[in-house]
Amino acid sequence: MSQELRQRHHCAYCRKLNTLWLKTEDSLSALQCKRCRLSLGLQQHRKWKTLDPAAYVHPLDRQALQALRKIPGIDHILRKLLGLTTERMYRVFCQASSIQVSARQYAHLDAKLDIVAHTLGLPKPELFVSMGDFGGIEAMTMGVENPFIVVSVGLLERLDDAEMLAVLAHEMGHIHCQHLLYKTAADTLLFVLGAVMARTPLSAIVQTLGWPVQLALLTWRHKAELSCDRASLLVVQDPDVVMRALAKAAGGSLNDELNLAAFIEQARNFERAYVADFLDKAWTLLLASRSSHPFPVWRISELLKWREDTGPQGYAALLQSGLEP
Ligand SMILES: [Zn+2]
Ligand SMILES: [Zn+2]
Repeated sequence: MSQELRQRHHCAYCRKLNTLWLKTEDSLSALQCKRCRLSLGLQQHRKWKTLDPAAYVHPLDRQALQALRKIPGIDHILRKLLGLTTERMYRVFCQASSIQVSARQYAHLDAKLDIVAHTLGLPKPELFVSMGDFGGIEAMTMGVENPFIVVSVGLLERLDDAEMLAVLAHEMGHIHCQHLLYKTAADTLLFVLGAVMARTPLSAIVQTLGWPVQLALLTWRHKAELSCDRASLLVVQDPDVVMRALAKAAGGSLNDELNLAAFIEQARNFERAYVADFLDKAWTLLLASRSSHPFPVWRISELLKWREDTGPQGYAALLQSGLEP
């Protein structure tokens, strides 16, 4: 006959002390923390007091950003384009149409955001849950002076708790890697090129950016995702979860029809078949695409390469530098 035993367990992610009544056959990994809703089966979660993003920024992101920064006066041009008005507009739009996450509202998301902030050694930004999406974009980080994150309720419904942690960690990666001036400009450009803001006054301002600036912004934008997928893995510390989140965010839901192992195999084959040179040309065909995070197979193949890199620049070496709780 099974017997119930009172046990206390610290959640490795958020450190909450959970009091549980466990049957002898219960496995901790099947139980959720009452605060962050992540699995209580994890024994150890590494965190960094300070983590230099240069330790994990993807080389393609670094190169594309260097190319962007070589454009004379680019920072000044973008700051002028975005200005306080644009940032405020995005914030007001979010505040008016989304639910702000707090300890009293979507408390489990608030706890997950705390985990990401503590893991990467960053201040916690504001987080909103939006009822819709932004022209197909379901998670994004906006703002230069005062960044904030928005996730769609649709994403929240499709992803499980660990996968949501992966999404939040990816978004905070944009803050950690100091992407936000370029990222907000690139997203604004995309909104203007797409349908979301095509007829707003911002459209005219964006058109004043020359084609070389637009091209540099949009090609960098895809490569920036690779660094943030690494940030996501550093926080989640489980590659399968990050890859599942990527697959789900890209293709809807993972079910019997969409098998993660097959998706990973596809990513490995993709890596063998294509080289970055070809992809660079392909980006130009995708510039007007409204897809926020394209090429999940490519992103998974890049993430697998980093995870399997056993050198000092690889995932394992960096994870070891994290502190145990
Ligand atoms: Zn927890
Ligand atoms: Zn991103």
